[in-house]
Amino acid sequence: MELYSTKNKKALTNLKHAVLKGLPDDNGLFMPVEIPRLPSAFIENLPDYSFQEIAFTICQSLLKGAIPDESLRDIIQNAVNFPAPIVRLDEEKYILELFHGPSLAFKDFGARFMAQLMSYFNQGEGRELVILVATSGDTGGAVAAGFLQTPGTKVVILYPSGKVSMLQEKQLTTLGHNILALEVDGTFDDCQSMVKQAFLDKELTEKIRLTSANSINISRLIPQSFYYFEAYKQLPRDERGVIFCVPSGNFGNLTAGLMAQHMGLPVRHFIAATNVNDVVPEYLESGIFSPRPSVRTLSNAMDVGNPSNFARMLDLYEGKEEGSTWNNMRQSITGYAFGDDETRTAVSEVFRKYNYVIDPHGAVGYLALKDYQEKLPNTKGVILETAHPAKFLDEVEAILGRKVEVPERLALLAERKKEAVSMPVEFAGFKEWLLNNLV
Ligand SMILES: *Cc1c(COP(=O)(O)O)cnc(C)c1O
Repeated sequence: MELYSTKNKKALTNLKHAVLKGLPDDNGLFMPVEIPRLPSAFIENLPDYSFQEIAFTICQSLLKGAIPDESLRDIIQNAVNFPAPIVRLDEEKYILELFHGPSLAFKDFGARFMAQLMSYFNQGEGRELVILVATSGDTGGAVAAGFLQTPGTKVVILYPSGKVSMLQEKQLTTLGHNILALEVDGTFDDCQSMVKQAFLDKELTEKIRLTSANSINISRLIPQSFYYFEAYKQLPRDERGVIFCVPSGNFGNLTAGLMAQHMGLPVRHFIAATNVNDVVPEYLESGIFSPRPSVRTLSNAMDVGNPSNFARMLDLYEGKEEGSTWNNMRQSITGYAFGDDETRTAVSEVFRKYNYVIDPHGAVGYLALKDYQEKLPNTKGVILETAHPAKFLDEVEAILGRKVEVPERLALLAERKKEAVSMPVEFAGFKEWLLNNLV
């Protein structure tokens, strides 16, 4: 498998390098040179395949032997180990539940697959791979759970003390084994700058095999294409294809859907649903991309002002003539943006109409799909439900005025004992800790 950088199509690299490095030196993003189409017989017969078999077939075709079949089978066995069920709201609207993993959000798919690939590619290096992550809450939890007990890896998580929720903190600090949590007496930006400094420190990078679990690592994107096929497989047949509505922030999830379409999945249309951080819907409307600082909202995992995967989206639509990239993208993606009040109303409406508890991110998706289907009725649309509503317990319970069921794996966390090392915002101390504990 060959990958290029979105900043330089001639700078080719292989999968191992792209996964372990995360980002190209030119600060672009890695993208596959070729996204092969899957045989139409495979798409026709999707209901005959398990979720894992689907994932395996996609990887075999996309990775082109970068990982031998036997190892690939093990990797998928370990990475894709929870379901992605479809729930029917009505004839037109379906929910794809992506929250059945350990951290109750779709990011578990990406994190687990990345952990498996990193562990695989680090074999034979003779040294443990140390993953440094700064987190404002959510990503750290998915990464920690994804790497838990993965051979040859250690994860060091830096999080801002007092600035993550109690359950988020438990997800970071109670796993043990190869997961180490540092509670930094500062902000998320302090955590991030300490991590950045570590990667620039010669002594550290010589003595410790450091890598990052960046959200734009290509190994997090690839597995997100699996569940679009898994969704399609569970739906009633419609010759005209399916509409996927994707609540979006950094647009990794949507980009993976576009890749699935390139592989031959019959997608009729994509909907990019955002909160008021609407840089992409605005681009789809006007042709102008103007990133800006993010605004805090109820659906906070989508509070992104400069979506990093936009460069990948552009590449997938790049046309030959001037201006045609925008036109091409508009043909297949429609953007919608909604505010917090509308989102709250949607959470109530979905419960009242369908007896389904949707989280605020999924609710933004619901609003977008509803608007779109008012113009295009008699279609089948799937809302990607990116997180379990219990992750946003206080807000959802306040909106619905009733208790929301908390999955057992989340409830159990509350009782576990926190273990974290306190760390001042000071690089020298952080470096010393790393050298003392990881060399
Ligand atoms: C990360 C996240 C999103 C946004 O996904 P992108 O791939 O960044 O667009 C949406 N919902 C939830 C719950 C998330 O955690």
